[in-house]
Amino acid sequence: MEEQIRKSDTLQVVGQLAAGIAHEIRNPMTALKGFIQLLQNSIDHEEKDDFSLYFDVITSELQRIENIITDFLVLAKPQAIKHEQKDIIQIVQETMDLLTAQATLVNVQFHTEFEPSLPLLYCEPNQLKQVFINIMKNALEVMPIGGTLTVSVHAKDEKFIVVSIKDEGEGMPEERIKRLGEPFYTTKEKGTGLGLMVSYKIIEEHGGYIDVHSEIGLGTTFSIILPINSSEENKKE
Ligand code: ADP
Ligand code: MG
Repeated sequence: MEEQIRKSDTLQVVGQLAAGIAHEIRNPMTALKGFIQLLQNSIDHEEKDDFSLYFDVITSELQRIENIITDFLVLAKPQAIKHEQKDIIQIVQETMDLLTAQATLVNVQFHTEFEPSLPLLYCEPNQLKQVFINIMKNALEVMPIGGTLTVSVHAKDEKFIVVSIKDEGEGMPEERIKRLGEPFYTTKEKGTGLGLMVSYKIIEEHGGYIDVHSEIGLGTTFSIILPINSSEENKKE
């Protein structure tokens, strides 16, 4: 319990910090990317070879900044937060649409299992989209040579809606599962360790929780469990 309290305090501080800066970084980033592209185009071919290492470093470091911003996108716009009754399948579908190009690039096929006639869910759709993006992106990143990403949505005990995202990646040892959601915890060279932290926070705020099941060498399933009657009063502050 103590551990939980400590963890959520840290989440709040990091979340607030992010909200203050992430949004403002977007515009200068776009300008930088544009001008670097122009610079690259205006240097003639011979010189380009000398500079190519510099361009590679600049591009990959800009990508790293972009990853951080992407993981935080929704938290960065607190003024836009609006809870409403929404069809969860539509939110999941829109998230998959956003990631189609990225999935195709690594040969990953989406497979969906949607339970029909689910009740509407009281939620903040953009925040839930952020959670699904972050978890699906992780799934794509552990399937670099392709596979199937299974996304299912179903009801549980008439009280919850469960969204499961199942990959065929490397799987995770128990020690790693325990650390998920910790700020800056990453095993990736270009990772931020912020995607799951943000996701856990958003789901917690919806009164739900995230369950992780993983088998080494076979893959991982992230289940996002959301209460159907998550009205204002039982929503955590
Ligand atoms: P990042 O993706 O930037 O590393 P995240 O917070 O999204 O940060 O994820 C934290 C860590 O959790 C990852 O670095 C990885 O070790 C682990 N992880 C998350 N999703 C998966 C997955 N589907 N399979 C295996 N490991 C995962
Ligand atoms: Mg990630």
